[in-house]
Amino acid sequence: MRKGIAVSPGVTIGTAYCIHEVFVEPGGEVLQPHQAAGELARFENARKRSVEDLRLLQSKVQQQVSNEAAAIFAVHESILHDPNLVGKVRGWIQDERLSAQAALAKLMDYFKELLDRSEDPYLQERFADIRDVVIRLTSYLSEALQKDSKVFVGPTIVVADELLPSQVVMLGDKPVHGIVTQAGSQTSHAAIIARSRGIPAVCGVTGIMRHTQTGDTLVVDGREGLVIVNPDPEVLAAYRKLEREFFNLRDQLAHNRDKPAQTRDGVSLELLANVNGVDDAKAAAAMGASGIGLFRTEYLYLTHASVPGEEEQLAIYRDVIAASPNHTATIRTLDIGGDKTVPFLGRGDREANPFMGWRSIRLSFEHPNFFLTQIRAILRAAAPEPRAGQASNSGGVATPVQIMFPMVTNIEELRRLRAFVRRAEQQLRKDNKRYGKVAFGMMLEVPAAAVMIDHMLGSVDFVSIGSNDLVQYLMAADRDNPKVSHLCQPLSPAVIRVLTRVVAACNAANTPVTLCGEMAGQPQAFVLLLGMGLRRFSMSSAFVPTIKELAAHVTISQAEMLLEQAQHQKTERKIHKMLTAELLRIAPNLEPVLIQ
Ligand code: PEP
Ligand code: MG
Repeated sequence: MRKGIAVSPGVTIGTAYCIHEVFVEPGGEVLQPHQAAGELARFENARKRSVEDLRLLQSKVQQQVSNEAAAIFAVHESILHDPNLVGKVRGWIQDERLSAQAALAKLMDYFKELLDRSEDPYLQERFADIRDVVIRLTSYLSEALQKDSKVFVGPTIVVADELLPSQVVMLGDKPVHGIVTQAGSQTSHAAIIARSRGIPAVCGVTGIMRHTQTGDTLVVDGREGLVIVNPDPEVLAAYRKLEREFFNLRDQLAHNRDKPAQTRDGVSLELLANVNGVDDAKAAAAMGASGIGLFRTEYLYLTHASVPGEEEQLAIYRDVIAASPNHTATIRTLDIGGDKTVPFLGRGDREANPFMGWRSIRLSFEHPNFFLTQIRAILRAAAPEPRAGQASNSGGVATPVQIMFPMVTNIEELRRLRAFVRRAEQQLRKDNKRYGKVAFGMMLEVPAAAVMIDHMLGSVDFVSIGSNDLVQYLMAADRDNPKVSHLCQPLSPAVIRVLTRVVAACNAANTPVTLCGEMAGQPQAFVLLLGMGLRRFSMSSAFVPTIKELAAHVTISQAEMLLEQAQHQKTERKIHKMLTAELLRIAPNLEPVLIQ
């Protein structure tokens, strides 16, 4: 039994599938001598297609960002032509008769070992580039694997060091029943994906890759943060019962889909969804969310090794809006940097503190054309539907699209952002393109902005609290570093105090406020937020049914009382314990999803 961080609730049992850097078919057999030539040809084909990709990307990034930013793709192409590296892979295919993917996996192991023995920052950078190239090659090689996979038969638990966005894409619609990772925390990529799919997950399980092999039976307890490898029959039977309870409850709650979200005393709430793309938007509708409160657009860049231009972005935004419940969406501009990097942005200098560094709008400001392209695409996606016979800019049905900017620190940035939106509007008018007026919002995730919120409200149409970041900055603890992430507790007294003030300030100024961090979907945190006066919540859509059910059991005065009680407690642990006990009393039927 191994302990990690509970990041996505529920209990599940399945067969482990360990993902190393590269997807390799487990137990992949050694090739027969006559197969080596075919495998070499497959590798060469993947190499050729990757070179073509990289040239295309280079020219796109040159146009959209800068020559400097595009240079990274020339580096990647040079890796594909590096005789030493290519020679190694060819040799392993020919002499050791490995599959192309297994040879690439071996290449990654080879470089990892080199890296472990060296502190050389150049080598680290180089390793990141090689990894990007290998992932690109693998995506071509694994097309066959995706179509005809022996890997994912029956319930599968994905076990990985850390799940890369590109790997998540390769998982596609496979029957992944659970996710376990060595690194990561509540707000890491794997956790967010797990929650958006409603899959139980445990992150930060130190050493799990050493103790698990593909094919092992795993129990994942996403409530308690436990992973059990090859449990004995009694333990297995006990967990099977819990698994059944969890799935039964989930199915039952999904029936509330069409019910309005309201408290026991009839106060209406907005339960919105956080999405990464059009599939999530569809899931949001299926789970009963009333709109999209956060569209993380950086996933367009993180999950596909491409650089969508204005027209492509426009098409994607339109699809997301069309799939969104009530066709509403709050679209956030690129939030690259910190834990989310794309090869051509923000990788110039290695930063000692990436989360405190060049990320989000700080990075967008320095790529003005690239930034304007995105803003233009969002404004165009907000264009009202034209009425019959009407082709002009005005009239039609308004699309409730909002634009939101991440990591705003001060009021000067808000002014600069407004100027960007105005410039995008001017350009669109000049180009005779239809666009819509959008509400202008800031994410509140930097403590400085929380302190100054009353001053900032005059410059925005709405606020969305990004509690994932706000909490990590408030506690000065990297949310993805397992050594300190235990400090990132949304229920800690300091967080409660800051959030209470922010919500009160927004309500006093009549500025719409939403919270779109992960705590919106955590029952204990939800009741406190409700007590603070928050009425709009955006969360992974998998949590919407639970929160809707919980809301129906609680009155506003009850939530206010619980907030007051929490404000008298001095530690996070006491607050958590008190709230859990109260919630079990208020909504006993939710027991299987209350993280203990
Ligand atoms: C947040 O910080 O709370 C948030 C919603 O943004 P992200 O998790 O994408 O940083
Ligand atoms: Mg954030």
